[in-house]
Amino acid sequence: MVSAKSENLIFHGIAASPGIVIGEARIADRSRVSVVEALIDSAEVPAEIDRFRLALAKATEELKVLKQQISTSKGSEHLYVIDAHLLILQDNMLTLETVDFIEREKINAEAALKRALRKFQAFFAGIEDEYLRERGGDVEVVIERVLRNLVGKRHDPLFAAEGKVVIIAHDLSPTDVLQIDKNKVIGFATDLGGKTSHTAILARSLEIPAVVGLERITGEVQDGDPVIIDGVAGTLLINPDQETFRNYLQRKQRYEYQEQELLKLKDLPAETLEGERVLLKGNVEFVEEVPSIKGHGGEGIGLYRTEMLFLNRSTFPDEEEQFIAYAAVVKAMAPHPVSIRTLDIGGDKFAADLHLEDELNPALGLRAIRLSLRQPEQFKSQLRAILRASALGKVRLFFPMVSGVVEIRMVKTLLAEAKEELRSRAVPFDERLAIGIMIEIPSAVIIADLLAREVDFFSVGTNDLIQYSLAIDRTNEHLSHLYEPLHPAILRSLKMVVDAAHAAGIDACMCGEMAGEPSYLPILLGLGFDELSMSGVSIPKVKKILRRCSKKEAEQLVARALTFPTAAEVESFLNSEIAAHFSESFD
Ligand code: PEP
Ligand code: MG
Repeated sequence: MVSAKSENLIFHGIAASPGIVIGEARIADRSRVSVVEALIDSAEVPAEIDRFRLALAKATEELKVLKQQISTSKGSEHLYVIDAHLLILQDNMLTLETVDFIEREKINAEAALKRALRKFQAFFAGIEDEYLRERGGDVEVVIERVLRNLVGKRHDPLFAAEGKVVIIAHDLSPTDVLQIDKNKVIGFATDLGGKTSHTAILARSLEIPAVVGLERITGEVQDGDPVIIDGVAGTLLINPDQETFRNYLQRKQRYEYQEQELLKLKDLPAETLEGERVLLKGNVEFVEEVPSIKGHGGEGIGLYRTEMLFLNRSTFPDEEEQFIAYAAVVKAMAPHPVSIRTLDIGGDKFAADLHLEDELNPALGLRAIRLSLRQPEQFKSQLRAILRASALGKVRLFFPMVSGVVEIRMVKTLLAEAKEELRSRAVPFDERLAIGIMIEIPSAVIIADLLAREVDFFSVGTNDLIQYSLAIDRTNEHLSHLYEPLHPAILRSLKMVVDAAHAAGIDACMCGEMAGEPSYLPILLGLGFDELSMSGVSIPKVKKILRRCSKKEAEQLVARALTFPTAAEVESFLNSEIAAHFSESFD
């Protein structure tokens, strides 16, 4: 092990939440409770079970008190984490498994609970989807709380630190992050964790710089060491020397200045020099991301991917479960609109346990709307759930991977049935709910004029449109040099889509990654897109460019860009235009 007293020790982890902080390390002992397995007499079994139930009840009570405290001090926005933990405590399987181990194995409650935990861990470890796998961490945190109650350890408030510190921990729970007082804790770094863990998601939305997945950082840092967390690069530096310290200080100041400048744009209209508006919205998969979209000035959610609810489970979530999830996003984003996309599963998005058949060409297979149309009852339950959410705010509904008019007509028939079913149950929904389609298959581009007569808006999914138009697997790193958003075929396609939409009087939106790339903004503006949807952090950057652009000039730029025969030539033309007209905005 390298001594932490050496200078400039740098460790690379996962950039969980952006920002640079320099401070004193404080090692947080969130170590696991150690449990000794002890055999008990049959006569002791009932008392042991009572002890376990009491510890469960105490943990529930603690979480409720915590929930109350947090809602008073920080509002109710993030309380879903505690609710999720309360649900785990109420889970029958946890209680049944533990009681079963006590009765069958005649072991103490702590050991029985640890064994139940191992079963849960094995279950979560086998999950392919990263996000869901990391939910296993939530179960561990909750069980740890019950264990502490069983062995009589107190839950010390984690961050009763003096002064401003950087927390270094083996792992932090989402509840730990929620309790962070930003006046005292300026950032954190952990051995464990991934980008999509709740801990990382919360750090991002609470804007606490963090690096996770550093593997053995708790063994390297000592209490009081000066450390630098770079949540942009995903590094942690111990004991910086004077020069490194000065460099980071400058980097930090530059980063913060740029962020401050960008955030000044938050409430300014997303419009061109002539006052032409382009709606800038956010893409989300979880309700936790909504505050970040709002915080960056997003005027709605342009793409709510609903896949997460469906991944890695053996049954489809029912209408009620879906409704709860969709309603949460709609309510959190109100009064702004939310475009909810129906299930886009299959292809590179696996649903291991939904009994989908193995396919030779999954990207060209039974995915997205094709799968939904094959399973009309399940599809209608999703439609009903979305319709019900439409009674709670502004909702738009749209469909992935539409290749032709027949599909959209079939969708409309099922949508009409779903509406009728709700009417017969007297359940309210928005009768005038707008519907749209993703444009991400070349056939949809070619017949965009025909499709435009059927729907209220288009949303171009460039991630797939580029993949299918150029026959480039979007997940194959060996082909990434051929994945060219500025390819003349793509530019022509985008023009056809926007022109067809506008000729029919409907909105042309884009929600693929291309929309969030600031340097493409002049092209997308010139093509005439009405709405661009992207990750929260990209919104101010794109808005900054938009506000310096003239729509008229952007149209002229597009007219020129469309004349070049290769992506490289389009790009060098775009770069020279940017250098000439927008250099100030791209710094
Ligand atoms: C797209 O294809 O551009 C898109 C936004 O959808 P997804 O990335 O979910 O396939
Ligand atoms: Mg797509």
